[in-house]
Amino acid sequence: MEEEILDFWNKEDIFEKTLEIRQDADLFSFYDGPPFATGKPHYGHILASTIKDSVLRYKTMRGYKVPRRVGWDCHGLPVENLIEKEIDVNSKREIEEEVGIEKFNKKCKDSVFRCVDDFKEALTRVGRWADYENDYSTMDKEYTESVWWVFKKLWDKKLIYKDYRISPYCPRCGTPISNFEVNQGYEMTTDPSVFVKMKVRIGKLKGAHLLAWTTTPWTLPGNVALVVDEEFDYVLVKVKNEKLILAEKRLEILEEDFKIEEKLKGKDLIGLEYEPPYDHMKKAKPEGIENSFKVYSADFVTLEEGTGIVHTAVMYGEDDFQLGKEKNLPFFHLVDEEGKFNEYAGDFKEMFVKKADNKILEDLEERDLLYKKEDYNHSYPFCWRCDTPLLYYAFESWYVKVTSFKDELIENNKKIHWVPEHLKDGRFGNWLEGAKDWSVSRNRFWGAPIPVWECEDCDRVKVVGSVEELEDEPEDLHRPHIDEVVFDCECGEEMKRVEEVFDCWFESGSMPYAQRHYPFEDKEKTEEAFPADFIAEGMDQTRGWFYTLHVLATALTLEDVGLGEGNPAYKNVIANGLLLDETGKKLSKRLRNYPEMDHIFDNYGADSLRFFLLSSTKVGEDYRFSEERVKETNRKVISTLWHSYRFFNTYVEKDELTDKLEVRNSLNKWILSKVNRVNKLIIEEMDDYKLTQSSRLIEELIDDLSNWYIRRSRRNLQKPESKKEKEEFAKTFHYCLVKIAKMMAPYSPFIADKLFKELTGKESVHLADYPEPEEKYLDEELEKKMETARDLAQKALSKRAEAGIKVRQPLSKLIVTEKLDKHIADILKKEINVKEVVSGKRFELITEIDSELKKEGMARETVRRVQHLRKKAGLTPDDKIKLYYRGDFKDFFSENEKYFKKETSAEKIEEMGKDHPEWTKEIEIDDRKLILGLEKV
Ligand SMILES: [Zn+2]
Ligand SMILES: [Zn+2]
Repeated sequence: MEEEILDFWNKEDIFEKTLEIRQDADLFSFYDGPPFATGKPHYGHILASTIKDSVLRYKTMRGYKVPRRVGWDCHGLPVENLIEKEIDVNSKREIEEEVGIEKFNKKCKDSVFRCVDDFKEALTRVGRWADYENDYSTMDKEYTESVWWVFKKLWDKKLIYKDYRISPYCPRCGTPISNFEVNQGYEMTTDPSVFVKMKVRIGKLKGAHLLAWTTTPWTLPGNVALVVDEEFDYVLVKVKNEKLILAEKRLEILEEDFKIEEKLKGKDLIGLEYEPPYDHMKKAKPEGIENSFKVYSADFVTLEEGTGIVHTAVMYGEDDFQLGKEKNLPFFHLVDEEGKFNEYAGDFKEMFVKKADNKILEDLEERDLLYKKEDYNHSYPFCWRCDTPLLYYAFESWYVKVTSFKDELIENNKKIHWVPEHLKDGRFGNWLEGAKDWSVSRNRFWGAPIPVWECEDCDRVKVVGSVEELEDEPEDLHRPHIDEVVFDCECGEEMKRVEEVFDCWFESGSMPYAQRHYPFEDKEKTEEAFPADFIAEGMDQTRGWFYTLHVLATALTLEDVGLGEGNPAYKNVIANGLLLDETGKKLSKRLRNYPEMDHIFDNYGADSLRFFLLSSTKVGEDYRFSEERVKETNRKVISTLWHSYRFFNTYVEKDELTDKLEVRNSLNKWILSKVNRVNKLIIEEMDDYKLTQSSRLIEELIDDLSNWYIRRSRRNLQKPESKKEKEEFAKTFHYCLVKIAKMMAPYSPFIADKLFKELTGKESVHLADYPEPEEKYLDEELEKKMETARDLAQKALSKRAEAGIKVRQPLSKLIVTEKLDKHIADILKKEINVKEVVSGKRFELITEIDSELKKEGMARETVRRVQHLRKKAGLTPDDKIKLYYRGDFKDFFSENEKYFKKETSAEKIEEMGKDHPEWTKEIEIDDRKLILGLEKV
């Protein structure tokens, strides 16, 4: 059925029609976070797509024009890493020197749309409506030009700078990693914890050893200073024949007996000169070496671990680097960009630093400079792409000065409606509070080039904000072509482009402008669509796309460049949790802990999957996903609704639906109140982007419809007392089904459309307006009364079960403590099959069965068996029969003749002769054998 509906949407251009009919309506602006189409789509994409699609379908039905353009993220390390693996390349140098940048980038480009068809297929199958024809990709020349425009605007506002800064750095990928990427890659790991002795050279403490602590031995050759806190207490202790200096509170780390010889203050140590463990720095004589190998004071020393004396290598740690700036220590690398020691590092040259740890320890031990070493378990960042341990490394990079407009970021966040709400002040708000300057350059190949040209001679810088400014415009803006573009510098020399490309997050964060080539084309469209009314992605994007969109929008609207002032990039955002398996593990290809998507589609349908994703879990929390749970949703929601419709369709003819709806019966009044109440609530929830709550309302309503309304009104449709009665029920039922189809169209668009088309004969539910609640039907009191009746019914039925009496066996009386209206009591009576419901002192179901009741029970049982047989014979409700019986039941059949004829649509009832009718069934009634038979007349 879903595939048939897909075909219909496709052939009749239903999506396009939804846009056409609302051409002049108000715009509802949506930004789609571009996925990487290099890898296959997974359930995470389906989840985000379901949320997006449901909101956008809802807004369309609410009367907005909702264009939905898709985009593809093309650049960045994931693609590069994939290609590296495919062509078996392991370092940046190999790409530059052996493969060549041009060939490498071509391979990246060719791989970008590798899985785009899989994406389109999966998203189409799940019912995601989007404009796949008119898509954009971040590698388009126009897109890059807009990214340049953004960068240039920030440059003009002095929000861009280049600096040596300590960045988390992946030595394998050869590029710094941004803070929010680092947060995705922390793992527990074991590093050496080492205590190194550094001898005081002159003064009163000459000959004593300062005991320094580090967990990165590979930084020891780069040691230039030791740091203490001037406020702390330190001691000079004698251990065996050595004198050691360390913080008094850290004496516990000493392994032998010791004697305190002198108590010192941190400030007494400041300025002490010491012998560094290695002389590589001394030999290299970099600028600032005269300030090196002394003790300084700083406030980052702790007494929680270590010795209270911290080893400092300026280029490999944030605190170290800041101290280096303050004290004019040398900014000099002993390690190259591949994480290997360079030519200044003597014997260590070309060793990967993490692998050099052991050699360094052996060497220190040999020279008696190692006091002790231990294992140190801590959480350490690894590259989120290639799993290499990251180094903290002083790197020249281009930065957005995020810290300078942090207040505006926080202010603009107040204008955003977050779902779940706690993200606003929590995860996202905290992230903004701690915002750091953003390194937006990558020392890589496959990305939009940074549009900065520098003169090597006089340091003049030229930043380009449009392609037009290039003198020789290349066909392709990617490296290496762009690198061939040079400018003449005022000084007479040549200006060359810096080598870096953009962090791909800068590119996706520029999407609001770049997707339509702002401001070079379609200026009004971009401005009209900014800020987005709505975006939705996974929770991890609070530090990814949600963040970069926010940073760039805030920076661009510090003053009005056409996009207004003081604007966030989006007004409403839904952040969904992760999909986990039943046991709480992440869905992973390796574990194969999830069913294939096609299997789910084929067996339960996209509607069931969508409804499961929307209703099972509160937005923001992690999902427990399993085939069983999708199946359950199918059973409880989608199939139940479908069967309700089938029942309607079996008993109601179209010509019974003509007149205006007029209701007298309480059951009809009740379901109309329910349907309109849900309608009212659902709009409130959906306008607040609460998809879980609103889809659960639908689920409850379908349950009410099926398990109470239809249950109790079955007879009014099957065997109505009058034509009028039938019509009232038929019309009410029809009204409810149409309304439910409309209400659930955003969530489960396939079955909703199928129902709507069948019920109304109109083209598509998705071209209809979202229904408005009809206040006149709301009747809270009736809903409460019915609730009471349902509770009582449940209680009475469980009493029956306890007593082992089937519901078919009529009973005489139910006594209830509540005072029930007659019409409610009548409904209850029928549900639990008692002769009367009366008020009394306590709840009591009379279970005595006299002979009258018993006979009645037998008659009902017989009817049920005949119905069964009718079904087996393939008869429709309209078919009339001749009913036969054999056995000692003559009186029974004549007493109940009228009843049997009516209930089983029998024209005649006869004792069975020698010739059997075609359909017979032997049963037992009242411990006696009875053979039933029937034939169609
Ligand atoms: Zn890496
Ligand atoms: Zn110059």
